[in-house]
Amino acid sequence: MTAPQPLIAGNWKMNGLGASVEEARAVAAGIGESRARVAICPPAILIHRLAQALAGTAVLVGGQDHHWDDAGAFTGDVSAEMLADAGASLAILGHSERRAGYRETDADVSAKVGAALRAGLEPIVCVGETLEQRKAGEALAVVTGQVRGSLPADLAGKAFSVAYEPVWAIGTGLTPTTPEIEEVHRAIRATLVEMFGEAGKSAPILYGGSVKPSNAAEILHADEVGGALVGGASLKAEDFLAIIRAV
Ligand code: PEP
Repeated sequence: MTAPQPLIAGNWKMNGLGASVEEARAVAAGIGESRARVAICPPAILIHRLAQALAGTAVLVGGQDHHWDDAGAFTGDVSAEMLADAGASLAILGHSERRAGYRETDADVSAKVGAALRAGLEPIVCVGETLEQRKAGEALAVVTGQVRGSLPADLAGKAFSVAYEPVWAIGTGLTPTTPEIEEVHRAIRATLVEMFGEAGKSAPILYGGSVKPSNAAEILHADEVGGALVGGASLKAEDFLAIIRAV
């Protein structure tokens, strides 16, 4: 069994205006030969512009969230099909900022994954424990529980990835030690194999939380780390490229 192709995905969160398209172009221009698949997930309103600017390059475009229904009376929301229609091919789902800030449950995330698959989007499903949960020795139970609850059975045989993002590491400059990352990634892998059998071995398990040029190589070469979900450091092409080169 060959290791899954690594994925480096940039999560721009609620950052970026039209001028940021140039930053995405700079990433595409600087990639060169990479073993990794690379994606940028800008705010929904920029997806179409990025998709046009990046057409024919190695950089994919993704969304950051979408509704679980395909269409309807949901003021202010976007559907998975709308993201795909605008040029996205992936979607980040279940990010802790949505779980905490919008009270998204595992069941909500699972329903969103179903909508992503119906629209042909490749889901990146985020899981991760809070600092309190880690201190209480609950990290593995919390994370594997989120994996079980957030990944629907219809993912079997589909392309998807799981992103392990400890909540306390996001945007803080803090990261778990490499053995701590490996322990959680191995537990996620075991859960995926339990859930999906042999197919559970092929989904990349990304690490996310304060990945930057200075720590990327160590994290990306850790056991069962199949790429990174990058927030702050994906906003500058130079930093994001340094992370991509560390694969
Ligand atoms: C994220 O929120 O997905 C993330 C990884 O953020 P940062 O890299 O800024 O910690």
